[in-house]
Amino acid sequence: MEIIFWGSTEGVTGSMTFVRLPEGLICVDAGLYQGTEETEALNEKPLPFNPNEINAVILTHAHLDHSGYLPLLIKNGFKGKIFCTRPTAALIKIILEDSAKIPEQHYYDEEHVKETLKHLSIIEWNESKSLFGGSFKLIPAGHILGASSLSLESEGKTIVFSGDLGRKDDPMIKAPLPCPPCDAVIMESTYGHRKRTGDIEKELNSFLMKISRESRIGIIASFAVARGQLLITLINDFFIRHPDEKVRVVFDSPMMGLANEVYEKYSYLTKIPGTIKNALLGQEGIEHQGQWDGLKKKKGPLIIISSSGMLTGGRIGRHLENWQDDKTAILFLTGYQSEGTPGRELLNGHRTIKSTSGKMIHWEGEVLSSDAFSSHADHDELIEWTNELNCESKIFLIHGEKDAKMNLKNDLSSKFSFVHIPSKSEIFNLK
Ligand SMILES: [Zn+2]
Repeated sequence: MEIIFWGSTEGVTGSMTFVRLPEGLICVDAGLYQGTEETEALNEKPLPFNPNEINAVILTHAHLDHSGYLPLLIKNGFKGKIFCTRPTAALIKIILEDSAKIPEQHYYDEEHVKETLKHLSIIEWNESKSLFGGSFKLIPAGHILGASSLSLESEGKTIVFSGDLGRKDDPMIKAPLPCPPCDAVIMESTYGHRKRTGDIEKELNSFLMKISRESRIGIIASFAVARGQLLITLINDFFIRHPDEKVRVVFDSPMMGLANEVYEKYSYLTKIPGTIKNALLGQEGIEHQGQWDGLKKKKGPLIIISSSGMLTGGRIGRHLENWQDDKTAILFLTGYQSEGTPGRELLNGHRTIKSTSGKMIHWEGEVLSSDAFSSHADHDELIEWTNELNCESKIFLIHGEKDAKMNLKNDLSSKFSFVHIPSKSEIFNLK
């Protein structure tokens, strides 16, 4: 098998790796680069193959940095199947349809997304499927609903793609299953240089208590898919366990509403199906202008969960604009904030930011942030995941910033004789 490294060799986005099997060329993940202008320019770079030469895509999970390039493949002539799990198929519909509507995203439109969805082919976890002189199966990887690692076998050799690995103690999603024995691993390294800090329950509880006891307004900035459902579930569960605390909780994001339905439907795959169903079925969402008009003048205690997580789009801007002068309001950033985003500006201590409407606002309230909600395995969990491998397995590190990859390489090198950080276009022949 020949591995052709391409995407996420530079950082954490744009996942895309090619594998040449005896009878076909496949692509593992097809993600968009996201972040700075310079990073996003990589989406314009021609692929090493014409999309009509690619015979199939295998998708590890639905996040845009793993799936967002699919409509562009279709637009440029890809005709094959896109294999993924059932929850991934349901989530990429939401994620790609949203992506096609973002004005800055000029790569494809809704028609291309529609066409992309027709190419999806469902595969169950651990179901072995033949493909172009080889076979593959998807293995639960934690992280988000439907996320998988991939084991690909051909001519007596096996390659494992970790996909994005989840954490062991995720409150909602089951821990990733160990990596099967293999000859080569293409491994993510997002948290390759650090341990996750913070405690989800503690941080959330203290925020919720503050809102409740001090009758404040809480605005939670969250990614619409996965993070949103986690927050809604944990918050709902908190108020069930603390019946004396009474806070109205609403979410304001149509995309979050759609993802709620998928999480509710596939909740049986998670650790806490009953709790999720309970929370997502009863959750109040803002659907009409009238509801929003009614909410605008409200005093605390009130919690609004909205997206986007980095304050770059979505409906969160209207809440920030509305409550910007309220010194007691709390904005809670629950995800990673990329350089150059309004969320990062606030974290850096700036209080004047550009809202999603383009208006400048001055946020007078408190700003809280946490990385406890991350759905990624941290440094120690990544190392632990490789425990099933023998020391002859070759390890290739992608999907991480330079420091993260270097650190992980260093730590894995004591156990494995071959740990490598591939560059874009690099080819490795696994014999
Ligand atoms: Zn991911």
